[in-house]
Amino acid sequence: MITTAEKQDIRKLSLDEMKAFFVAHGEKEYRAKQVYEWIWMKAARDFDQMTNLSLATRELLKENFSFRLLHIDRMQRSADGTIKNAVKLHDGLVVESVLIPHERRITACVSSQVGCSLDCKFCATARLKRMRNLSVDEIYDQVVAIRDQAQLFFGRPLTNIVFMGMGEPLLNYSNVIGAIEKITSQNGLNFASRRITVSTVGIARMIRKMADDDVKFNLAVSLHAALNDTRSSIMPINESNRLQDLADALRYWYSRTKRKVTYEYVVWEGINDSPEHAAALLKFCKVIPCKVNLIEYNTIGDDTFRQASEEVIQSLMQLLERNGITTRIRRSRGKDIDAACGQLANKSG
Ligand code: SAH
Repeated sequence: MITTAEKQDIRKLSLDEMKAFFVAHGEKEYRAKQVYEWIWMKAARDFDQMTNLSLATRELLKENFSFRLLHIDRMQRSADGTIKNAVKLHDGLVVESVLIPHERRITACVSSQVGCSLDCKFCATARLKRMRNLSVDEIYDQVVAIRDQAQLFFGRPLTNIVFMGMGEPLLNYSNVIGAIEKITSQNGLNFASRRITVSTVGIARMIRKMADDDVKFNLAVSLHAALNDTRSSIMPINESNRLQDLADALRYWYSRTKRKVTYEYVVWEGINDSPEHAAALLKFCKVIPCKVNLIEYNTIGDDTFRQASEEVIQSLMQLLERNGITTRIRRSRGKDIDAACGQLANKSG
């Protein structure tokens, strides 16, 4: 008898591994597809939900596998409708994911790692250090939970997914890709790739890899400065991933995918708001076709970083727009519950 702790998580199996399991146990191969659909398409959480399997087959599965579930430890709702989930993983660690309602869209913002290794000076998650990568099912389950909340609380479907929660998605590449494959698969959530955005600090070699892998989702790069010295001082990753490397990788990305990139830029007073910075940003925007999101700064409780004035932000936007770069100012959501960009840090945990 295998105890629950030793049993393998059924969701770690590929479809082929599941087929092999059934064949090895004298069952029909097509059972694997049925089980796979229950797990990924119908989000079953218990073998007894798999009603098209015989009792004996369900018993066979129960003897050999378990479901490693994550559960929502705490749910907070912001005055603006944003919902933040503290998601407890099977080993007790906690990550956060956020539902952001808009007039016509509902966006899920999901985490890819517990903590983060990148140490961006303006981000609360950086203070947690990286504990571990999330698995495919831990990423997938955050999406399923938010999809269900979208229906429950808003009566509307989930329309967009952004990998802008905790962690650096491109440093957990294979699991992020595995989760996106399941999210977009017909046997999974059948979600459109073009409604998914992966946001990265800009790891050049991984951007090239994504281009080679011919991915179909959107790419966002947290730029925040287009001058090396400034960028290195606020984002240490820039020391090993210079802006030139990033630009080269982005040219490669565009040549392969023909997809625009979105740059995220928070304008901070005295840090990246000078005319030189604006000119450098404009120049960087010529590297490949792009859009710019000027993100509102969410304070993380120290005063090194202060958002630039509305006038400075507006004039940067006008400069970019005059030069043909689509630019949006992204207002924060969920600030009152620390659910906004850069604020995810398990305060509740
Ligand atoms: N590691 C990935 C995804 C997580 S951060 C990345 O760096 O893109 C998601 C976005 O929030 C990034 O653009 C990040 O730079 C931004 N961000 C981080 N801290 C922030 C803060 N305090 N206020 C506003 N945006 C912040």
